This record gives sequence, C-alpha cells and structure tokens, in this order.
Amino acid sequence: MQIAIVGAGTSGLFLNRLLSGRKGLHTTLFEQSEKAGTKLRASGGGKANLLNTDIRPEHYNHPEFLRRLLQQADAARVQRLWESFGLLTRSDDEGRVYPLSLCAQTAVDTLLPPGMDTDIRYGCTVRELQAENGKWHLNGEAESFDKVVLCSGSPAGMIPDKRKAYNAYLHSLSLETTPLSPSLVGFRIRRYPKRLNGCRAKAEVRLLQNQREIFRETGEITFKEDGLSGIVILNASAHYNRLENKEGAYLLLDFLYARPEWSLQEHLRLHRDLSGVLHPKLHALYLQQAFDPKNFRLDIEAPYDLAFAQVCHGGIPVEKVDDTLALRGHPGVHIAGELLDIDGVCGGYNLFFACACACVIADNLCKDAH
Ligand SMILES: Cc1cc2nc3c(=O)[nH]c(=O)nc-3n(C[C@H](O)[C@H](O)[C@H](O)COP(=O)(O)OP(=O)(O)OC[C@H]3O[C@@H](n4cnc5c(N)ncnc54)[C@H](O)[C@@H]3O)c2cc1C
Repeated sequence: MQIAIVGAGTSGLFLNRLLSGRKGLHTTLFEQSEKAGTKLRASGGGKANLLNTDIRPEHYNHPEFLRRLLQQADAARVQRLWESFGLLTRSDDEGRVYPLSLCAQTAVDTLLPPGMDTDIRYGCTVRELQAENGKWHLNGEAESFDKVVLCSGSPAGMIPDKRKAYNAYLHSLSLETTPLSPSLVGFRIRRYPKRLNGCRAKAEVRLLQNQREIFRETGEITFKEDGLSGIVILNASAHYNRLENKEGAYLLLDFLYARPEWSLQEHLRLHRDLSGVLHPKLHALYLQQAFDPKNFRLDIEAPYDLAFAQVCHGGIPVEKVDDTLALRGHPGVHIAGELLDIDGVCGGYNLFFACACACVIADNLCKDAH
C-alpha cells in the first residue's frame, strides 16, 4: 500500500516512524520546507514538552472528540511509543513529559533514526490532491497513492510571508477551515501601563466577561511592552478564543493569592506603602495610581499576532472526520494534528494530540493493509 503523508512535522514524522518497516506499507513524506520537524524542534523553548501524564478532554476545545480519541491512544501509550523509538523521557511535578536530554532535537532524531528507510521530498508544497480510479495523485503527477494522510499543521508561530503556502491543497478537496485565530498567545492590553515592561510576578489570574468567571489559574506573568505573556496567560488565551463574543473580556490579577488573610487597609495602616509586598515596578505603578493588588484589572484589547502563537484555534471541523480520523466523503484520506480544529492548553497537550492522531491512523492503515 502506497501512503502519501503531507507534512513532515510532528504528526507526519510520528506516523512515518510507526509505519516504518511494516510489511506491505510504503510511506512518502511531502514537506514544503527544507527541514523536517521544525515546530517540534522549537517546542517548549527547545525542550519539547511532548505530553502530559494527565491528559484530560476538558483541556481541549472539543472535549467529546478527545474523549473518543483517548480511548484509542492515551498518554501512557504515546509515552511508551516515544520510549520504544529510543527516546528516554522524564516528567516534572506537574506531569509535563520532556525528553530526558531536555533537547527537542533528540525527539526529532528518534523519529528519523539513521538507517531508517525514509522517503522525504523536501521543498515540495502540495497544492492539489486528485482522486482517480480509487488512487490519489498529488500536484497532478502520475505517481499514485492508495492513501493520503494530511499532517500539514497550522500557520501558528509563522511570519505572514511563510503562511501563504500552508495547506494550499485544501481547496482541491473542497475543504475549508473554520476561522483561524491565535491561541496560546499573550494579550495586548487596553490603556496598558508601559512602565510594567520587564516585570515578572506570580499571580492568580482570572479571565472574566460581564463578571462571569471563564478561567482561573495561578502562574508567573511576564509584563511586556504592551501586554502580558507567560504560561498562565497563554492558557487564558485558549479559553478567551472559545468565547463567541469577546467584547468586554478582562483579566483580574491577585498578587496576594498565597496570603488570603492579607488586608490592604491593615497593611497600609502598619507600613504606609506596599514596597514590601509588590515587585518594584508594580509598586511604582501603585504609587502613581493606587490599585488593589488582590484585584488588579487589565482589559484585553486583543491576542498578539499568529506569529507569536503556539497553536491555532480553528481548523478542519472535527465533524468532517470519523473516529478513525478518516475524512468523510474522501475515501483513503485521513487527517492528523493541528490541521484539525483542536487546540489544547499548555503542558504537552498539543504535541500529544499530534502523536495520538498518528497512532490512531497507523492502527487503521495497518488494519487496511491486511
Ligand atoms: C514556539 C512553539 C512552541 C510550542 N511548544 C509546545 C510544547 O512544548 N508542547 C506542546 O504540546 N505543543 C507545543 N507547541 C505546539 C506544537 O508544536 C504543535 O501543535 C505540533 O507541532 C503540531 O503538529 P502537526 O504535525 O499538526 O504540525 P507541524 O508539526 O507544524 O507540521 C506540519 C508540517 O507540514 C508542512 N506543510 C504545511 N503545508 C504543507 C503543504 N501544502 N505541502 C507540504 N508540506 C506542508 C509544514 O512545513 C510542517 O513541516 C508549540 C508551538 C510553537 C510554535
């Protein structure tokens, strides 16, 4: 069986590794760039947070879809597979799993080990897919494939120029993505106090809209020139994206979350200012415009551009695929990874999703080959 894999990124390489050496199966990867595994290599600040030992459906935008996928490929299975490829892994106290080397390149290397017979066509952008007599042809070429797996990801983290060729072939399948927006990204803030630029502080972060709480998590925040970043903020952005109408969404930061008994009035009565409480940059702001450090409000203007996002919210609607990730109405085509309208929060959820999809598709292609 001849299998074309569109995109040599995380899901494409993982699938290729799973199918490699399987009797009766031959894979060919088509990759638009000159390198494989670019996003995997950049993931987790170059350390690649591969998965989380506590993968839960509610950490994704379509929990029901994840519930069904997890019955076929859960975190333990994906971690075992990484180990079976020769990648030693370690998990931290929060269940985040990384290569033991703490180097994402190690993960890429285990997907492309020396001696493995891999057919990757670099610099080959797939622009068209056509079915003829039960076989698939790419870019109008005579070469034919029995199956095609779409692993072409999303344009998150890419500068606008590089986004153009992404998923260029979707029109030939009459497929459209839902609107794409940046997720796992920082926020630009309205009337932002620029003097906070460079401050880092830990806080309990709440995302609210019309006083309704949408998200709450504690973590370190990085104050930038015109807005906020940090894992807790990126996670807030995933929940912000799920709001149909984003008008009036704001963040409330509690810098004293670890001291619930603390009282602003009592502290001021005893010490006159908050210099022993707040980061100096926050304190300087407090002296200029007093605020309650348990309820510091920041109004969201917009998420930062897609170029700064780790993932895209939006993609091919999940209803377009069945539980085997086969594309409905196009026999022989499967979809894996971020190309689907699935996004998870920070902590290894997105790389896991790409690899879990590859597992499910590999299971089904192996079944079909017999
Ligand atoms: C900076 C950054 C840090 C991240 N950190 C983490 C992390 O620590 N943990 C985590 O879980 N997730 C993380 N992510 C998200 C994670 O990297 C992605 O969700 C995951 O790599 C998606 O895998 P994929 O296979 O769907 O797509 P990709 O890995 O992006 O692969 C898609 C491939 O398809 C190719 N392609 C696209 N269109 C075409 C075409 N028409 N023809 C041929 N080739 C094409 C692309 O060039 C690319 O190589 C991070 C993302 C970024 C940007």
